[in-house]
Amino acid sequence: MMEKVLITGGAGFIGSHLAEKLLGEGKEVFILDNFSTGSRVNLEPIKDHPRLHVKPGDISDKPLLVELAGKADMIFHMAAAVGVKLIVEKPVNTIETNIIGTENVLKAASETGNKKLVLASTSEVYGKGTEKKFHEEDDLIFGSTTHSRWSYGCSKAIDEFLALAYHRSQGLPVIIVRLFNTVGPRQVGDYGMVVPRFVQQAINGDPICVYGDGKQVRCFTHVNDVVNALCLLADNEECVGQIFNVGNDDPVTIKKLAEKVRKIVNPNATIKHISYQKAYGAGFEDIRVRRPDISKLLKAIEYTPKAGLNDIIQDVKDHLLSDLTP
Ligand code: UDP
Repeated sequence: MMEKVLITGGAGFIGSHLAEKLLGEGKEVFILDNFSTGSRVNLEPIKDHPRLHVKPGDISDKPLLVELAGKADMIFHMAAAVGVKLIVEKPVNTIETNIIGTENVLKAASETGNKKLVLASTSEVYGKGTEKKFHEEDDLIFGSTTHSRWSYGCSKAIDEFLALAYHRSQGLPVIIVRLFNTVGPRQVGDYGMVVPRFVQQAINGDPICVYGDGKQVRCFTHVNDVVNALCLLADNEECVGQIFNVGNDDPVTIKKLAEKVRKIVNPNATIKHISYQKAYGAGFEDIRVRRPDISKLLKAIEYTPKAGLNDIIQDVKDHLLSDLTP
């Protein structure tokens, strides 16, 4: 991979792990972050690293983006408004950050010499498709615009269209990654992410709150496995202009997840079911089964997810019990 890397959203959950990995590989890392959902605490382990440059700022700041992109050989665009709860609570911010911000980043990459760009997208772009496993070429099926949940997937789908348009029309080397339920240390439960929420509830001795019947299915991937995959994809020239699902295809129901968390974190914790309406307000639609087809990823890179769900829960627990939380 190239030597100087810009990470937008580098103080966020995934971005900070990526920064750590790249520094470990000898790269010079520039981080742009507005510290909205990201945090200084996430950068604590690397904050004094001589090859790390942290620039507080926003992806709405075009001159700043051009300045930073100009210093880098490539860009990981991780900055985004994420989390179902955040989207429901701040719909304008989600749409604007994700669409206008990404347009600015793509423009800056293009204007500074067509820098390679890895765009972090999401499994949410598949919307409420009912495929057993989502494949990169599947149709995207969103619900009505009156349900703000879909604005997130829709906004990231626009980002993908825009990135591919830059690739086709100007030769911008883009790689799009659709991340599936990435979890691990530093993820916070404030915006709806289920694993840190369950683990924190169990630590506190509160009931573990499963939304709906708990039969909904997800596949969780450790953030370390995800950042490994992103770096390998970025290194592979054949991946340019393409979209990849990134995750693992080991499914678990949310009820089973709650039981695992109880077992590992606090056997005395109770499990309680609450309605989606109570959790997210009226009209919320959940996705029943979210599972990636990762055959394309496996063909492109040498990738075997190392961490299973028990390791993930343990790591999240250790992190929440450490003093490295915001
Ligand atoms: N969920 C839950 N309790 C929570 C938060 C989430 O039961 O406190 C459920 C949620 O309804 C969904 C699953 O866990 O079915 C995963 O939710 P998350 O927000 O982590 O990811 P996403 O829905 O985007 O896959």
